[in-house]
Amino acid sequence: MRVVSSFSEARSAAGEAYHRSGGEEGPAPIGLVPTMGFLHEGHLSLISRARRECRVVTMSLYVNPRQFNVSSDFDRYPRSFERDCELAAEAGVDVLFAPPTSEMYESTESTSIHPGPVTRTMEGAGRPGHFEGVALVVAKLLAGLGAQRAYFGRKDAQQLTMIRRMARDLRFPIEIVGCPTIRESDGLALSSRNILMSAHEREAALEISRGLWAAALAAEGGERSADVLRRVVTRDRSRVAWEYVELADQDDASMLDVLDRPSFLAVAASVGEVRLIDNVFFDTGSDGLAVDRGIVLEGPSLLYR
Ligand code: AMP
Repeated sequence: MRVVSSFSEARSAAGEAYHRSGGEEGPAPIGLVPTMGFLHEGHLSLISRARRECRVVTMSLYVNPRQFNVSSDFDRYPRSFERDCELAAEAGVDVLFAPPTSEMYESTESTSIHPGPVTRTMEGAGRPGHFEGVALVVAKLLAGLGAQRAYFGRKDAQQLTMIRRMARDLRFPIEIVGCPTIRESDGLALSSRNILMSAHEREAALEISRGLWAAALAAEGGERSADVLRRVVTRDRSRVAWEYVELADQDDASMLDVLDRPSFLAVAASVGEVRLIDNVFFDTGSDGLAVDRGIVLEGPSLLYR
C-alpha cells in the first residue's frame, strides 16, 4: 500500500498499481472509498466490495472540517492514523490518500456546491452547512482521483442520495455504489462515534436499531403509513433524545406519507453528547417489499480492539 498526501501522487500511484496489476479487461480500473478514518467493519465492507469489483482500490482519509457544523464535534472526532494504515493495508487498499487541509482547500478558492432540495430535510435541517461541506469534499475526490466507481454506505442514507444526484447532475463519469449498513452484534449501527459513548449510553443507544427493526417488521406485515411506522420506531423508547424520524424517497430524499416506492426510514437521536443516525431501506418491486436492515457482525467490532 502506498500512502500519499497529494491528488497528483494519488493518481500516479493508482495508475502504477493498475499497470502492475496487468491486463486491460475485467473489472473497473480504479475504485474509490472515501472515509474520515478510525476504520471499522463498515468501512472495511466498502473496501472489500471495491476490491472485488475494481483492479485498484484508493481509500481517502480526511476528517473534513467543513462538514462539521459544531466545532467540538470536529475536535472530538476519533483519529488514529497508524491504526487506519494497518487496517487499510490488511483490507487490500492499494493507495491511501491522506491529504493535509492545505491540499484539500486553497485559501483563495471561491467555488461552493449547493446540493439543493435533496438536503433541505433531516440531516440538512439539523446540521446547517453539513451537506455543502460533504458535497464540496466529495466532488474534489470524485474529480481529482481518477476513479470510475466510488463506494458509499447506506448508513448515511441522505448523503448517499445527495452524492448520487450530484454525480449525475455534474456529469461525473463515475458510478456511485451504495453498500449495506454493518451493525455490531447487538444491532447498533457501526460508527466511529460509538467509542465516545459510556457503557450505559451504548445500552440506551440500542433503542435506535430496535425501533427501526420494529418498524421494519410492521412494514413487512403490510403497514404502509409513514405516520404509523414513525410512531412504531419511538413507541416506549425514551432513553434516547429523538431528533427526527422520517420516511424518505431514496431518489430525492423528499418526505413520504406512504411507503409506496424505494425509500428509507431514517432517524437521528442523541445519547448524552453523542448524536447518532441510522435507517432501514425499503426496496419495492414486483416481488413486493424487501427490507434492508444491514448486516449484523457475529463478534465484537474492531472498534473496541
Ligand atoms: P465516515 O468515515 O463516517 O465518513 O464514513 C465513510 C464511509 O463509510 C461512508 O460512505 C459511510 O456511509 C460508510 N459507513 C460508515 N459507517 C458505516 C456502516 N456502519 N456500514 C456501512 N457503511 C458505513
